[in-house]
Amino acid sequence: MDCIFCKIIAGEIPSSKVYEDEKILAFNDINPMAPVHVLVIPKIHIPSCDGINEENSCFVKHIFEKIPEIAKTAGITNGYRVITNCGEDAKQSVKHLHFHILGGRSLPENMG
Ligand code: 5GP
Ligand code: ZN
Repeated sequence: MDCIFCKIIAGEIPSSKVYEDEKILAFNDINPMAPVHVLVIPKIHIPSCDGINEENSCFVKHIFEKIPEIAKTAGITNGYRVITNCGEDAKQSVKHLHFHILGGRSLPENMG
């Protein structure tokens, strides 16, 4: 499958890893929008939020259980924002479910 994030999981494309276990991978975004900008992805190909179902939601559950630890490991000490873009209007550019963790500075109030 021609998916950048599946290739990162497979080690075919290098990434700056922040956290990894059997279910999920967290790595620094290549084009950071904040001093800390980490992407957290499931190690199975789920295209977006629209692809979450009863069979794969354990990966999403695990991501959210680990987000506090990942944010801390990435150096965030004063709060963070978790975002996922789903579909065209949200400008989702990589079609593998991912959660952005943004922090390291005071973030703008406007979310669009
Ligand atoms: P989206 O716009 O789909 O919500 O976010 C995709 C994110 O993936 C973008 O912030 C983009 O900078 C990041 N990204 C795209 N390709 C790569 C890559 O090869 N490596 C890393 N580390 N980040 C990537
Ligand atoms: Zn994928």
